[in-house]
Amino acid sequence: EETALWSAVDTYFEPLIAPDQLLFDALRRADEAGLPQIQVSAAQGKLLQLLVQLAGAQRVLEIGTLAGYSTIWLARALPPDGHLLSCELDPHHAAVAVENLAAAGLADRVEVRVGAAADTLQSVIESGAEPFDLVFIDADKPSNPVYLERSLQLTRPGSVIILDNAVRSGAVADQTSTDPNVLGVRAFVDLVRADPRLSATAIQTVGSKGYDGFILIRVNG
Ligand code: SAM
Repeated sequence: EETALWSAVDTYFEPLIAPDQLLFDALRRADEAGLPQIQVSAAQGKLLQLLVQLAGAQRVLEIGTLAGYSTIWLARALPPDGHLLSCELDPHHAAVAVENLAAAGLADRVEVRVGAAADTLQSVIESGAEPFDLVFIDADKPSNPVYLERSLQLTRPGSVIILDNAVRSGAVADQTSTDPNVLGVRAFVDLVRADPRLSATAIQTVGSKGYDGFILIRVNG
């Protein structure tokens, strides 16, 4: 079957990607706590880590923490004085994430804020916080357009925005779809297309997580 082959290729590349024991521990804790296994793959996590490094990001915003698996990949790429703010609605998810981040030695640079991410972002905007250099959007998909609009108020020219789950087994191309998750991606894409400040691409992916993809954006100014 296709997905078995995709998973075999992910397994082949795992020594290249080199997730360490702390990342496996984080997944085990998430599983034991009954959290859904819907985090990014190791390959995607490593991509996030590389993007933080390539962008020289010192301030990272994550929308959708779950157990902090992607958070660990992102935060590890930060300099010691870097900062990551991660937004999570579910207090149980956030508690598991805080435990995982502490075990990974990242508690000093990561804050997990519990609440609806749209509200958290609004309060960060109102607090006049420094802009974020990189934003990873991976929460409730119908809110993607709101997350983009708020992220644009929290970034600067040169910042990077990544949207996960942008392909959804190809459903994103179905103009007749009424799936709220698909509509959330399509509305996000419409906003990006309409904004001349944004330069973007969409990359389809296959792997242990099936057929999906991500959108990568640079805020140009
Ligand atoms: N980024 C994580 C990773 O790769 O390890 C996976 C995040 S998971 C796909 C989505 C998370 O978004 C869930 O933990 C869910 O509870 C959270 N979420 C859902 N609605 C939300 C909201 N309105 N505000 C903040 N978080 C929300």
